[in-house]
Amino acid sequence: MEPTETDWLSSYAAWSDETAATLAEGRTVFRAACDATFDEQVGNAPSERLQATAAMARASCGSRSPAGWRRGEAAVVRELLAVHAVEFPPRRRLDFSDIASVSVGVEPTVYCWQPESWAELLPQYAILRAGEEVSLRGILDRERNRIDLDPGICASLADYVEGVRPLRLSNQFLLLGEALRVLTHQAEHLRDPSASEAEVECRALQHVRPLAARAGWEEEVTTEVALQAWQIAYPRLPAPFRSPECRDGGAFDRDPDSSIWP
Ligand SMILES: [Zn+2]
Repeated sequence: MEPTETDWLSSYAAWSDETAATLAEGRTVFRAACDATFDEQVGNAPSERLQATAAMARASCGSRSPAGWRRGEAAVVRELLAVHAVEFPPRRRLDFSDIASVSVGVEPTVYCWQPESWAELLPQYAILRAGEEVSLRGILDRERNRIDLDPGICASLADYVEGVRPLRLSNQFLLLGEALRVLTHQAEHLRDPSASEAEVECRALQHVRPLAARAGWEEEVTTEVALQAWQIAYPRLPAPFRSPECRDGGAFDRDPDSSIWP
């Protein structure tokens, strides 16, 4: 039986992780052996539309270093996004680039996906990124300085730029905090590519209050958005994305002299 796209992507992810681990140990991966294990363990594209993705995956065997391998993986993700963008192309949002610019100081191109294409992309993307990201609602392409966003995150950000105030006693405070964290998290990866996930996430958390304040709402609203991000969302994050240094006066506090937190 022919593998499904899901089967094929899982095989590719396992093979790629294994090869990346070998390279990380400082061992040499010879081109011929790499091509042979790809043909054995991954094989041809399971569908016409994944042909370019499969070609890109096999071409990873041309890289000899951990960094080169990561670039190969990024190229595969980029091809997968391109496959799913064909029918409902993502839309560029200059105003969301501005959010990253005023908070983090980087200027990524930001794209918002449409629900139809995102729903198809997400489970496939998740196979390639299993466990590596705090949230699969934002996708970063470092080399292209680009962030692709989940339609739900985009809806919250669109309300935010239009100044729509979160409704009292609703989950909109939490959703806005999440939207601001997802965007600034990926932007923080661009600003400091060597920072850990825990540091990146902690910095993202601290962008929530100043960004909410820019909307011009009453201070209680701004405080509520920031507090819900800290008290409700933060403790729910997987362990690698949290740190005891993420606190007032901790190593990840962006403004250690101030007692305002987060
Ligand atoms: Zn991250």
